[in-house]
Amino acid sequence: MRIAVISDVHANLPALDAVLADIRDAGQPDAMWHLGDVVGYGPHPAEVVDRLRTAGALGVMGNHDAAAIGRIGTEWFNDDARTAIEWSTERLGAPHQAWLRGQPESRREADVTLVHGSPRDPIWEYVYSPPIARANFGAFETRLCLVGHTHVPLVFRDRDGRASAETPDDGETIELGSARTIVNPGSVGQPRDGDPRSAWLLLDTAACTATWHRVPYDVGATQADMRAARLPGRLIDRLELGL
Ligand code: ZN
Repeated sequence: MRIAVISDVHANLPALDAVLADIRDAGQPDAMWHLGDVVGYGPHPAEVVDRLRTAGALGVMGNHDAAAIGRIGTEWFNDDARTAIEWSTERLGAPHQAWLRGQPESRREADVTLVHGSPRDPIWEYVYSPPIARANFGAFETRLCLVGHTHVPLVFRDRDGRASAETPDDGETIELGSARTIVNPGSVGQPRDGDPRSAWLLLDTAACTATWHRVPYDVGATQADMRAARLPGRLIDRLELGL
């Protein structure tokens, strides 16, 4: 089974459309999975929900999604994030809210666990270091767990009780092998690894491989829509830096 995995779209429609085109160019996959934070930060919350719903994407709820539908309070977010979440909530119609509400905190598909943050704390925890990955290997039952939330492509493998980390490059294919592994595809709508291009990954469950892809998109178009919506300047500036 070939699965396109995306995460942290963050209401960035030009980025999502560039990724969807790249996924088609790579040969239509059997499924599309998303790892949450569909909305928040960006200027197109309703449009990205429509795209993912139409594409039949299966996924999980992120912290920004949970706040945008009122499931968690916005007091846990910094001022810029809170401003963007409150702006997003006003723009989500009943069908968009219902779709977001229907995303579980974790799910299991084809013997893979999907969460936004971490298996032991699906909404909030960031898996960004080997010690945190190691502490999470006991919190999921499948061999592979997909996470988002950090906006950085990463692979953590369980090596006899220790975790090793790898940072995959554009076009790199990683053999998943038999070790238990936590994999992060990176972010579609707000990459934070210094590369402003959108990230996604192709998971091949038969070949047991994951291949990372980076895709340029029209950052200026998203920034113009954010300016028109009067979203916070720091959120606009960071897109071109990939930070
Ligand atoms: Zn996010």
